[in-house]
Amino acid sequence: MTDHFDPKSNVIRLSDSVENSTSIAAIGIAAHEVGHAIQHAEGYTPIKARAALVPATKFGSTLAPILILIGIILTRSAQYLNFGYKLAIIGLLAYSLVAIFQFITLPVEFNASKRALVTLERREILTAQEIPMAKKVLSSAALTYVAALVSSLSTILRLALIISGNKGRRR
Ligand SMILES: [Zn+2]
Repeated sequence: MTDHFDPKSNVIRLSDSVENSTSIAAIGIAAHEVGHAIQHAEGYTPIKARAALVPATKFGSTLAPILILIGIILTRSAQYLNFGYKLAIIGLLAYSLVAIFQFITLPVEFNASKRALVTLERREILTAQEIPMAKKVLSSAALTYVAALVSSLSTILRLALIISGNKGRRR
């Protein structure tokens, strides 16, 4: 189980390793999740936009591989070339919802960490010496979201090259 704030039941769920620890990392992560709870409470726009994107992203990521695969296969036949090409493009657009979702996740995550660090400092939960360490932990956690976006973008680019390559070869 991963640490997260669940807006449906309005609870923060922490993994055992975070809940049962008093380490700077665990305190930082717990405060970050509190940051998400406050974002929801305040109606922070990016988190609302992200929540609104969830159903479309789920639908798009399920449908995209099927459309792209069938589309690419069809572009190999002269008769269905154009239909296959269109299908693959629609699949690619559906898949790009994933990248949009990951993109809007970035401000949500960075902002939750920012809120966490302010709280930890102002309430003197961590000392001035400990704050930079918490910042480091939260920054490296945020980098995984950046990496996920970069990975999706490179997949989109690769698929776009395959699809346009298939189209070009038949001309
Ligand atoms: Zn988060």
